[in-house]
Amino acid sequence: MHTVSRLQPFGTTIFAEMSALAVTHDAVNLGQGFPDTDGPASMLTAAQEAIAHGHNQYPPGLGIPELRAAVARHQQDHYGLDYDPDTEILITVGATEAIAGAIVGLVEPGREVIMVEPYYDSYAATVAMAGGVRRTVPLIPDDDGFRLDRTTMAAAFGPSTSVILVNTPHNPTGTVLSDDDLAEIARLCIEYDVVAVTDEVYEHLLFDGRKHRPLATYPGMRDRTLRISSAAKTFNCTGWKVGWISGPPELVAAARAAKQFMSYVGSGPFQPAVAHALNTEMAWVRESSAALQAKRDLLSAALADAGFGVHRSEATYFVCADPRPLGYDDGEKLCRMLPERIGVAAVPVSAFVDDREPWRHMLRFAFAKRDDVIAEAAQRLRRL
Ligand code: PMP
Ligand code: GLN
Repeated sequence: MHTVSRLQPFGTTIFAEMSALAVTHDAVNLGQGFPDTDGPASMLTAAQEAIAHGHNQYPPGLGIPELRAAVARHQQDHYGLDYDPDTEILITVGATEAIAGAIVGLVEPGREVIMVEPYYDSYAATVAMAGGVRRTVPLIPDDDGFRLDRTTMAAAFGPSTSVILVNTPHNPTGTVLSDDDLAEIARLCIEYDVVAVTDEVYEHLLFDGRKHRPLATYPGMRDRTLRISSAAKTFNCTGWKVGWISGPPELVAAARAAKQFMSYVGSGPFQPAVAHALNTEMAWVRESSAALQAKRDLLSAALADAGFGVHRSEATYFVCADPRPLGYDDGEKLCRMLPERIGVAAVPVSAFVDDREPWRHMLRFAFAKRDDVIAEAAQRLRRL
């Protein structure tokens, strides 16, 4: 017996592989994207209290009412988006399950799912689980950053398109899709009657004054978009796995049809704590995001100092770097060697693509780390 053929191409996730290498070689782990400091103290206390006060059994299938209300209020406050907490919001086991629920619940076998390349690794595996076909549209270089090629995007839409997965701010490049790009995606979704599933887990981590604008706020999009976010990156709690989906009742019901048989429910005592954080800790998030911008600057400067070409990171936890000036053109090989050679772990961007050639050399580094950790990494990077 062995793994089914549709999942064989995916092996072990690149994050698990590189984190394991980091542990083996006691390397500074700038591979997997997780912060090394905790979220707001009052949120941690709220979770401890929830456990102490008996919130330890299955929460309701949709998620606890307080959290659904907080998620609804949060979107109203930030974007003017109006969702009914009883029929238009579903709490999930992280954004990962939200994405899986949406894709498995919406995509018929053989139908196409468009995604921007590089794409977050779970997208391809999830589309495979649904029996769908992925169709990738590459980001292209733009000055020291990246942008969408709108002509290629338009060409990807057709009669077999079922869903487009849109991730902005974007992992792994840290790109924020422009208003014009999002407007074009909205136009295409409407023309081809396609549902958008948006992965907005980095919605609060934008830099240099940039503002996040959800695709659901574009004319005609609210009722054809499943908007996904999660507490993980907003509140530094990647291990809690509390995510959510917002959208019109029939699309949320489709995601729920699949989600209820994935985990049924999850993260019981963390749900009230995340509700509390959404209601009271957004000032903490603003500070955290400002601190992250400074960390982006520190790590970008360290990479440049070590001899890498450094791409512009506009948001997220990540900065991409080009090691070719240092004489390396195979990012995957370099990532397998870095932990042992210099004691730093990164991930190869080629792990997030189908067409490897344009991305073969590139490395992704995570900067959501303490300043002393980034300083240590900076020293070690100079040994390259
Ligand atoms: N989408 C993107 C783009 C991510 O970077 C991540 C990792 N945080 C996820 C989804 C998964 O989120 P979660 O940990 O909430 O499942
Ligand atoms: N989202 C994180 C990243 O991109 C890691 C998530 C994971 O390990 N699956 O690094």
